[in-house]
Amino acid sequence: MALIVAKFGGTSVASPERIKMVAKRLIGMKQAGDRPVAVVSAMGKSTDELVGLSHALSKNPPAREMDRLLSTGEHVSMSLLAMAIEAMGYRAMSFSGRQAGIRTTGEHSKAKITLVHADRIQNAVDAGIVPVIAGFQGIDDNGDITTLGRGGSDTTAVAVAYGIGADVCEIFSDVDGVYTADPRVAPRARKLDAINYDDMLELSSAGAGVLQSRAVEFARKYNVIIHARSAFSDSPGTLIKEADSQMEQAVITGIAHDTSEVKVTIRDAQDRPGIAARVFSALAGNMVNVDMIIQNISEDGHTDISFTCPEADLGRARGTVESLLDTIGARGYAVDENIAKVSVVGTGMKSSPGVAARTFTALSDNNVNILLISTSPIRLSVVVSADQVELAVRCLHTAFGLDSDSVFEEKMLSAQELADKKSKGR
Ligand code: ADP
Ligand code: ASP
Ligand code: MG
Repeated sequence: MALIVAKFGGTSVASPERIKMVAKRLIGMKQAGDRPVAVVSAMGKSTDELVGLSHALSKNPPAREMDRLLSTGEHVSMSLLAMAIEAMGYRAMSFSGRQAGIRTTGEHSKAKITLVHADRIQNAVDAGIVPVIAGFQGIDDNGDITTLGRGGSDTTAVAVAYGIGADVCEIFSDVDGVYTADPRVAPRARKLDAINYDDMLELSSAGAGVLQSRAVEFARKYNVIIHARSAFSDSPGTLIKEADSQMEQAVITGIAHDTSEVKVTIRDAQDRPGIAARVFSALAGNMVNVDMIIQNISEDGHTDISFTCPEADLGRARGTVESLLDTIGARGYAVDENIAKVSVVGTGMKSSPGVAARTFTALSDNNVNILLISTSPIRLSVVVSADQVELAVRCLHTAFGLDSDSVFEEKMLSAQELADKKSKGR
């Protein structure tokens, strides 16, 4: 009689046929004696379509209205799934974020869940009903609708699992688990049976979109076990949990890539104390989320400073840098949008020297030029030209001995969905 939170992403609820498949899957869980609670994303690409609609009307839509708009995508899928379950003779009831008791902070578009009042969900489960919860949203202290950042339904699922004390949080998507790299970029990637929270958090933060990093952070904090698995098959996926002796002890767990950042270079800024502080304080003040930073060797008392930030913050970054040029005595600035970050991740690297040497050798053997480097105790990231991202991921995957003998096969994705996935990876 396991209590299971089952989250289905956009691809899994993209059409009435897919929604029927999800309904059957939930009913299958009930028939096996389990008690499922569903969490759904918006259908297919509908969140992107809503973003497109808003941009047709405003360059800078108010954050409150944007969240109100985007939350409707999940309202559509939750109601349709509840109807599908009812049409198959079982009881179901949909709940918006507000109705499911999901309270958040007030930062629109990146709110954090603070509390889950799960009584209504619990009561529904006790009454034999399948609750279907809209992912990606909650309400703040003013009663306004907030959203949790793109991919945020994963976080809803983990928070609900914690709130109702579920035995497991199953995240169903179009891949059958967490791989050693995005299998669409590195077809020789290997599926992991299990991965610890720290490795998964680092992979997600470095761009592995299979799970939202906030979801992993939440799961680690409250010890919620996540099972990432395929919406299209019954085969077991990957368990994300506390490290244990059964887990593989590799130096490198995986390679992640991220094409969503841009690089800004400030040319010939004065090289004296206080300049970097000024630049990065101003960027922070304008809500630019700076990731990597490099400062060149000083010549004639001037130096170049480069940093990366999300493409979404570029407008604010430009405005900030332009307004500072005179004050910091800089000659100008340049923006490179054609970059990608590739990260080698593994808690095992803490006790294993030589990761940097092997990374740089593999990249140089393949003529991949490194533009920026940053490290943490369990990650080494390089910025390369976006045209070389696939080559960089694949050659590092091979260099760290991660290649599988078999090649990843697409399951159940339509030609259009495959094309969309490819364009998402640039
Ligand atoms: P959903 O819409 O169901 O939330 P996502 O598209 O967000 O699904 O996440 C699944 C996708 O994550 C896969 O299609 C895959 O291309 C991508 N992905 C990136 N890195 C990895 C990885 N290391 N392992 C598995 N999938 C990955
Ligand atoms: N629908 C939202 C998005 O596209 C949330 C999610 O899918 O998890 O980002
Ligand atoms: Mg997702």
